[in-house]
Amino acid sequence: MTAIKPPPPGAKVGFTTTIPVEVVLAANLQPVDLNNLFIADPGARARVAEAEAAGFPRTICAWIKGIYAALQSHPDIRTVIVACQGDCSYTQALGELLEAEGRDVVHFKYPYPRDRQQLRREIRTLAARLGAAASQVALIQARLSPLRQKLQHLDRLTWESGQVSGAENFQFLIASSDFASDPEAFNLKVTEFLRQAAGRRPRTYPVRLGFVGIPPIYTDLWDYLEELGAGVVFHEFPRQFSMPHHHADLAEQYFHYTYPYDIFGRLADLEAAVRTRRLDGLVHYTQSFCFRQMFDQLIRERLNLPVLTIEGDRPSPLDSRTRMRLEAFVDVLRP
Ligand code: SF4
Repeated sequence: MTAIKPPPPGAKVGFTTTIPVEVVLAANLQPVDLNNLFIADPGARARVAEAEAAGFPRTICAWIKGIYAALQSHPDIRTVIVACQGDCSYTQALGELLEAEGRDVVHFKYPYPRDRQQLRREIRTLAARLGAAASQVALIQARLSPLRQKLQHLDRLTWESGQVSGAENFQFLIASSDFASDPEAFNLKVTEFLRQAAGRRPRTYPVRLGFVGIPPIYTDLWDYLEELGAGVVFHEFPRQFSMPHHHADLAEQYFHYTYPYDIFGRLADLEAAVRTRRLDGLVHYTQSFCFRQMFDQLIRERLNLPVLTIEGDRPSPLDSRTRMRLEAFVDVLRP
């Protein structure tokens, strides 16, 4: 059997959700989180329509359609890592479509149920497929550690002192899945931002909110909540993407990452955040046609504070109904 050749050094490697990015970097490849590529596109909404014109049904999650269409205009991304376990079945099908179109698809499976040894094997398989030496992976993980600590500090400046706004928090943490494809440049950006933020006055909000679930696809959510006097001081998944759990061992780091596993690990993480960050309420963002909507009931039952559930479909400003519901929720929480 011929061994599959790893991508050439410096090549861009896309991925459909957060995967152990240390392995990609250790293989001297350029990581591209395809979700970020899609949503950063000023024509993101049009990308969804393009995928529908290409045959994707309307009743499919917009993130999948956006990723597909974004890749069409990036033929330079030849290799795509698909999390075919730990994300969703749409991703699995997307991987097959991309393979049919000639891309190199690399599968990564987050073990379900969560399992340390299996995860360790998956990371080893990924490293072998991309051509990353174990020593290099360990080196990259150690190099990224100060940057990950800076991101934790940035997060603290949101919920402790209010010197970093909810929108800024979201923007930096969401980018930590691929470090904007260039960890060194991203590190400089974070360092400079923290320097500026340290000079700001502390700020308090009459209403402290947390965001639970998939990153919202709305474009003006944070500005609107600020107008209402509510600060978003917690973003569940973007914070998880920044890997706030410190572990010298890479498998252990991704074992404690809650996104790809069961809801119970997420609930424990959410309970801690509600307490530590003194949240007044949670907004559960759900994505149209996403299976994760089913967790809404458990989130409401298990977390002892008011929860507002909103739903978004494709990239757009907030619709009037969602604006009214957010306004009413903040009014109820206002002291
Ligand atoms: S939002 Fe849900 S359905 Fe869409 S890609 Fe993510 S996990 Fe899959």
